[in-house]
Amino acid sequence: MQCRACGATQLEPLLDFGEMPLAGGFLSCDDEASAEISYELIVHVCRYCCLVQIVDPVDPDVLFQDYSFSASTVPALVDHFAAYASWLKERFDPSLVVEFGANDGVLIGPITALGIRGVGVDRSENITELARTRGHEVVTGAFTPELAQAIRTEHGPADIVTGSNVFAHNAEPEVILEAARATLATDGLLALEVMYAGDLLEKLQWDTLYHEHLTFYSLGALRGLLARHGFGVIDAEHVPMHGGSLRVVASLDLGRQPSAAVEEVVGWERSVGLDQIDRWRQFARDARRAIEIVETTFERLAGSASIWAYGAAGKATMWVNACHMDYLGGVVDASPLRAGKLMPGTHTRIVSPDVFRSANPDYVLVTAWNYLDGIRRNDDWYNGIWATPLPELTFHR
Ligand SMILES: [Zn+2]
Repeated sequence: MQCRACGATQLEPLLDFGEMPLAGGFLSCDDEASAEISYELIVHVCRYCCLVQIVDPVDPDVLFQDYSFSASTVPALVDHFAAYASWLKERFDPSLVVEFGANDGVLIGPITALGIRGVGVDRSENITELARTRGHEVVTGAFTPELAQAIRTEHGPADIVTGSNVFAHNAEPEVILEAARATLATDGLLALEVMYAGDLLEKLQWDTLYHEHLTFYSLGALRGLLARHGFGVIDAEHVPMHGGSLRVVASLDLGRQPSAAVEEVVGWERSVGLDQIDRWRQFARDARRAIEIVETTFERLAGSASIWAYGAAGKATMWVNACHMDYLGGVVDASPLRAGKLMPGTHTRIVSPDVFRSANPDYVLVTAWNYLDGIRRNDDWYNGIWATPLPELTFHR
């Protein structure tokens, strides 16, 4: 076992969830449910660079082939990508942006609306089909050096290659980095948004540790990996996407001066212990405790009250399975791609918000706890009790 960032072999098991279903493995019917496959889920940390990672990945074709996550159905993500497109335009004024993990065109849309040429790449067939029906230029496939060369031949060298919430999902980041090199002009930039190890640690976000999320980068660990592939980090900033992400810009031109933010972020990481193995061991103890509190509290409540969950994203799969919530009346989700399906593992039915309204349960556990404010605004008729499981279990009346 080798660390994905630094190559060291001193990896230590941090959290062992045993056999878990895939977080995005929503099931269509009971027949599918009976054939569901679970996979071992053990999270490791590197004793050398403290990179948190899952070292035994599930085949990406299994994980992402029929991906039912359509980013444009999440208003917070639509807003995020519109702002990100403007940010790229204002800072770097690119002519051609290539995005890997382009999903349904949620970034390529605002990019092209700003007059920038945008080309998306995504390995999921159903989602790229959706993007193309919206008129976006999207290629179906994995972002490899070969595919990158084909894009360059057709469109010319790119000014920016970007990937949001996708780089860290890949077991072979070196392949993406080589593909980025093959796509970019000699002074081109690589802009990445990755779920941040700093938020994982500080907000105790153990519920994002699932098979799809192979790696949680700190800037310190990511900078080392990028440097090994010829990229120099020139900017870094914290963004709120997905409960906290890190936006990093790296340049192929190593003479380019980094902004002061880069050293500031690395300094902050050292101050909170992101590079300390003992701090991560404490995180694991805290996560196990958080799971235990939610499990025992709701198990007790379920004896006399109706309990539902809100949000059928990956976090939900983690909560309902780690806490054995086989008593849930339903899981509410606004995405039309999910409603009507069954939750992985517990096989709880996923329903649209109007079904939730007619059921009116006593408690709703908001597994999408980082979207609580928006959910409460959309369902302001509800007069039962909302609950959020993190950073600590809280009831909102
Ligand atoms: Zn390492």
